[in-house]
Amino acid sequence: MTAQPNSTEARDMAYHLHSYTNPRKLEREGPLIIDRGEGIHVFDNSGKRYIEGMAGLWSVAVGFGEKRLVEVARRQMARLPYYHTFSQKSHGPVADLAEKLVGMAPVPMSKVYFANSGSEANDTAIKLVWYRSNALGKPEKKKIISRIKGYHGVTALSASLTGLPNNHRSFDLPFANILHTTCPHYRTGAEPGQDELAFSRCCAEELEALILEEGPETIAAFIGEPVMGAGGVIVPPEGYWEAIQDVLRKYDILLIADEVICGFGRTGHMFGSQTFSIRPDIMTLSKQLSSSYQPIAALMINDSVYDPIANEADRIGAIGHGFTASGHPVAAAVSLENLAIIEEKDLVGNVRRLAPHFLSRLNALERHPLAVEARGIGLIGALELEAADGAAAGATGARAAAILQKNGLICRNIGDSIAFCPPMIIAAAEIDEMFDIVEASLGELGRAPPA
Ligand code: PMP
Repeated sequence: MTAQPNSTEARDMAYHLHSYTNPRKLEREGPLIIDRGEGIHVFDNSGKRYIEGMAGLWSVAVGFGEKRLVEVARRQMARLPYYHTFSQKSHGPVADLAEKLVGMAPVPMSKVYFANSGSEANDTAIKLVWYRSNALGKPEKKKIISRIKGYHGVTALSASLTGLPNNHRSFDLPFANILHTTCPHYRTGAEPGQDELAFSRCCAEELEALILEEGPETIAAFIGEPVMGAGGVIVPPEGYWEAIQDVLRKYDILLIADEVICGFGRTGHMFGSQTFSIRPDIMTLSKQLSSSYQPIAALMINDSVYDPIANEADRIGAIGHGFTASGHPVAAAVSLENLAIIEEKDLVGNVRRLAPHFLSRLNALERHPLAVEARGIGLIGALELEAADGAAAGATGARAAAILQKNGLICRNIGDSIAFCPPMIIAAAEIDEMFDIVEASLGELGRAPPA
């Protein structure tokens, strides 16, 4: 691409190292500059309109251009634009949000800690688990079990939890003491003839075998997303979470539910933990907490986590952890208003009402000759495509995402899967519009020459 000199594109190409982007490809092709958003749509700087089929990054629950969030941010900026929460300082919005989240928790939780990103929340969760083990006089209880294809972030510790090779390769990760167990993907993981329940039992047996091999007294916690998101939208098979939790209870292992994507309605209940009867000791939250209008994340901990930590800190000194912007007042105020909108507009109910239609349109895509599998629940889903003849893994998915974008729908490819996670304010007709674009684009993908 030859960008106009001094254009946003040219300056972005010259100065900006992007996240999750091939820098050399960006140098050749330039960025897509998104200029503004309205409802489920965003507009680029040429005025072209796109459906944001991923709600940004699984996050803009209430849609773009929500004036109530703009107004509450403006008011909070004018009153107290910043304050911290170190050394016993606080402010109204953070206290209100902590109370609100504890009230919403699907299982008894006692305290909320605030961070700026999902990665930081998961990083903090593991640090608190380690601190707790030391507090309990069990310094050997430090290993964490995550899952292959789990996604928990990109800080050195949370990237270690993430079970995807691209987050480890060339970063010298994962850290020691972070282990990965079976991915509960039924289609690729089950033996021929094995039903979902039997496959779930098999996943739990493999978890138990890992625990026994490592020594149960060395395992501190298990972390998992109720539905795996960035690993390819993998909905757990029947009985999976029950079987996993039985094993964790047996060996006194804490359960961390990473609700960064599932939290606040995505699966049709306020939390994914409710959809799958998960009873976590720690929950991490971000994204739809503020609809990503502000960077904010939270982790909730129950008494069995909080009490030993509080006792230890009382003994050795204040907790040696905290971010400058932990519990930022503008982010907290925006989150409170965002949660009020989700409740007042019954967006969780909207997800439940629209899910059958969303899933039937998604499942219908399986008829396409290049489709391998459609997966989904609530308003989150993915279509896995077959790698076209000779195409490298992921190339077909990337080409599909590029065609979708050309046709006015922004989605993300995860390898050869295309993910769908529209804003929760979406209407039935807009779901049709979205999948009509997908169907037309898959037609084009079929006709295009192999990559
Ligand atoms: N956990 C999950 C389940 C996520 O999907 C993500 C982000 N996609 C993260 C953690 C990391 O969040 P962040 O990008 O805000 O660090």
